[in-house]
Amino acid sequence: MMFPTIVSKQDNVVHIVKNQKKTECGFTYHHFTIVNRSDLRRIKFISKDSITCAMCLQHYLNQK
Ligand SMILES: [Zn+2]
Repeated sequence: MMFPTIVSKQDNVVHIVKNQKKTECGFTYHHFTIVNRSDLRRIKFISKDSITCAMCLQHYLNQK
């Protein structure tokens, strides 16, 4: 299974994208109401093994 992910610029952690503004762990990756092309390009679909944010993985597993 592939996940939509985003890398936080500050610490290079790979997060799971929850919605248009936030990741599973609550990190706000998008500060504007309109998603523009550059933001969409930042989202990459990768396998679970490549996700490095432990909190995102935990939140995702808790939903199941
Ligand atoms: Zn995260």
